[in-house]
Amino acid sequence: MRTTLPQRIAVLGGGESGVGAALLAAHRGIKVFLSEGKTLSDPFRAELEAAKVDFEEGSHSLEQFLRAEAVVKSPGISPNHPIIQAIKQAGIPLWSDIEWFYRNCPSNAKIAAITGSNGKTTTTAWLGHILRQAGANVQVGGNIGIGAGRLLLEPDADIYVLEVSSYQLEDCPSFKPDVAVLTNITPDHLDRYGSLEAYAETKFAIAQHQSADDAFVFYGEDPVSRRYLERVASSLYPIYTTMPAELPVQGATPIPPKYLIRTSNSDMTIDELALQGKHNTFNALAAGLSARLLQVRDEAIRESLAHFEGLPHRMEAVAHVGGIHFVNDSKATNVNSTYYALESMKTPTVLILGGVDKGNDYSELYGLVEKKVKAIVAMGTDNSKIAAAFEGRVHLLAETATMEQAVRMAYQLASKGDTVLLSPCCASFDLFENYEDRGSQFKACVRAL
Ligand code: ADP
Repeated sequence: MRTTLPQRIAVLGGGESGVGAALLAAHRGIKVFLSEGKTLSDPFRAELEAAKVDFEEGSHSLEQFLRAEAVVKSPGISPNHPIIQAIKQAGIPLWSDIEWFYRNCPSNAKIAAITGSNGKTTTTAWLGHILRQAGANVQVGGNIGIGAGRLLLEPDADIYVLEVSSYQLEDCPSFKPDVAVLTNITPDHLDRYGSLEAYAETKFAIAQHQSADDAFVFYGEDPVSRRYLERVASSLYPIYTTMPAELPVQGATPIPPKYLIRTSNSDMTIDELALQGKHNTFNALAAGLSARLLQVRDEAIRESLAHFEGLPHRMEAVAHVGGIHFVNDSKATNVNSTYYALESMKTPTVLILGGVDKGNDYSELYGLVEKKVKAIVAMGTDNSKIAAAFEGRVHLLAETATMEQAVRMAYQLASKGDTVLLSPCCASFDLFENYEDRGSQFKACVRAL
């Protein structure tokens, strides 16, 4: 425990993070009430009942919140929701589930937290993998997999690795990770934050309570991240994926001309990394450097950087059909991630793009598309913006309205030795439930060819 805990809390939202927060409170013997505006899933309802947590569904009763000493808010609830305004007006502390985790976390445990626009999940999972392989007693969760609160229902770990979204960082009055990683800041979620500055500010909240004993690992080549560095009191560990003009005093960079990563007694080349592409070089260096800051031996880090399976829907190799390689990058829901996906392509590429456009500026992709893409297959209920954006910039552009059509079309347009890349650059909600559903349908259609 890092602070005295309240006797009674209320939890707003009943997804994985809210339910995890409520179960943690019950586990600690703290009175807790959970409120879900829609309906709880059956397994969550059963868990709350088994733990004797009081809850409501379908609406939020303000009086229950006004009786609480603190409110734990799920990341999905908008800060503009009337109930949030009322809780704030009543002067009741409002915490995200990450803050709640922090207050409950054993004070001798180390915490590594990863945020950023892209690469959070990969870096979090890779760091978790390195630590597990090195034999550390570690728990991994937060914005991925297991909610932060639920992690503390398990026996105490020595290290907690958390993926943290900017929404979760909004209400963190004391959260202070030992190692904070900010992968990058690119325009995404501007619909919620209004401006890049406001968005960058919440991302930097990951370091706001850190001191010089803590580490802040960031992308030294990201101009937006660099702009806010003077706010950070922690020790800075920049990461470069190309050679910087000046070598950082501490941090990580591959060393040209052979692009070696220097470890204490052996070097490795970036070709040996388990996941390829410049973005994954960053993720590998961020995970490796964080592991080193958490006292893992270089040899163990090296081994785990070379052997890591990666995650589904992120540059996932699906199959070779007729000599054509199919890659599933369904998780790419913005321009930046598609940019890095294209950059890592080593063969001519047929690119499947499209879905719900969140205000994309496709011009950032023009250079790579002209160099690497032989055909674009647009896939969505409205393909007009993509068609207009790439008109004249690619040899062939086809429009499709289902995954099956898109995969068949891409297969026809590709030749032996090419890659068909699903890296849609857009959200998936027009044709699919979510990006996982989109990626799974892609894999099923490829396997049916
Ligand atoms: P997040 O959890 O932040 O959404 P993921 O690790 O799930 O990130 O990767 C999401 C997408 O972003 C994938 O399509 C992947 O290819 C791309 N990506 C991964 N790491 C990076 C990075 N460091 N910079 C830019 N794009 C990345």
